[in-house]
Amino acid sequence: MTPKKPFDPAACREEFPLLADPPGGKPMHYLDSAATAQTVAAALRAVRRHETMTRANVLRGVHFLAEAATDAYDQARRAVARYLGVADAEEVIFTGGTTGSINLLAHSFGSLLAEGDEILVSELEHHSNIVPWQMLAERRGVRLRVLPVTEDGRLDLDRLPAHLSARCKLVALTHASNVTGAIADVGRIVETARAVGARVFLDGAQRAPQGPLDLPALGIDFYAFSSHKLYGPTGVGVLWGRRPLLEAMPPFMGGGGMIEQVSFAGTRYAGIPRRFEAGTPPIAEAIGLGAAVGWAGGLDWAGATAHEARLTGRILDGLAGIRGAKVIGPAGLQNRLGVIAFTIDGLHPHDVCQWLDRRNVALRGGHHCAQPLMERFGVAGTTRASIAPYNSDADVDALLAGLDEAVARLA
Ligand code: PLP
Repeated sequence: MTPKKPFDPAACREEFPLLADPPGGKPMHYLDSAATAQTVAAALRAVRRHETMTRANVLRGVHFLAEAATDAYDQARRAVARYLGVADAEEVIFTGGTTGSINLLAHSFGSLLAEGDEILVSELEHHSNIVPWQMLAERRGVRLRVLPVTEDGRLDLDRLPAHLSARCKLVALTHASNVTGAIADVGRIVETARAVGARVFLDGAQRAPQGPLDLPALGIDFYAFSSHKLYGPTGVGVLWGRRPLLEAMPPFMGGGGMIEQVSFAGTRYAGIPRRFEAGTPPIAEAIGLGAAVGWAGGLDWAGATAHEARLTGRILDGLAGIRGAKVIGPAGLQNRLGVIAFTIDGLHPHDVCQWLDRRNVALRGGHHCAQPLMERFGVAGTTRASIAPYNSDADVDALLAGLDEAVARLA
């Protein structure tokens, strides 16, 4: 392997056209990457290359363009597999995003469950990892159990054994929270789940953009993430699962592309991954994602993570000095992403966001699709800043100055 170039924050930012050359010419302080990250130039180039040179449907035609498009689509699948540390690329299923992946799992894996079986989720989950399971519970009489979080916004793993029974078939938890930034202790989750024979699914929407993974080594069974949070195009994401489990699951959607043979006497389904990719897939988007993970896989993540942690520390220190500010999440930097949710006494998160928007600081305000967590902490919503490798000290300076100003003027 060629050694990676040491992480250079300024060079990294240059690879994101919207930040390097912001619309309107004013510096853009983009601190909303947990909602959607900016798209890396390599992904934009790959999409353009496909659209201008290999555009055709995949896995269908025999003409030159159809074969070139199919090759590019397959290559994207292999690039994703490499990023996930997965040897068998057919275990990688392209979906519409994390939400699409979890709905696929809830329908397909869920159809194998019996009344009275249990699924464990937690208070920390995004609605995407709650609602599909609730819908399954309604359909099949499956019971949903909910693991609480600690005061500092982590999964309360001390209470995990008490929430697992022999009826638990799936532990479905977030790998890293989109509100508190807490990164889960996967080893402990897997060990405890295995003790009752439960499978483990991790929602990787927030963790996957933070560097390559080794999913088989984590010991989990299923994983999901979205391309648009991983510097790639919108409209595509991934569900990964272990081959024997995926092969035992029935298709979720029916249509073209997912069959071996169709007749009115009966239909034979294709093997994985095609069985789960009915209809024309998001071809250009998947190709863009392949380029995005290729780029992310080549980054010096030790350097990028240290850079992000330093910026996160600056924000946490800055918030400690702001009157009435309170962080919901871990106070330190250990096992935590640069996703920082906070409230400020007397200020509505939307007002904070609007005030900061005047300084070209993009934040998120609201419940972050995590209403049960908001309820747990007794708030209707929070303001959230989220850090990606392309963020700079200037972004943090603008954020802290803007918050000082908002408190002085509005609180
Ligand atoms: N899970 C987590 C932890 C998230 O942060 C998000 C998006 O914010 C999702 C799931 C849903 O992702 P998508 O809207 O891309 O399907």
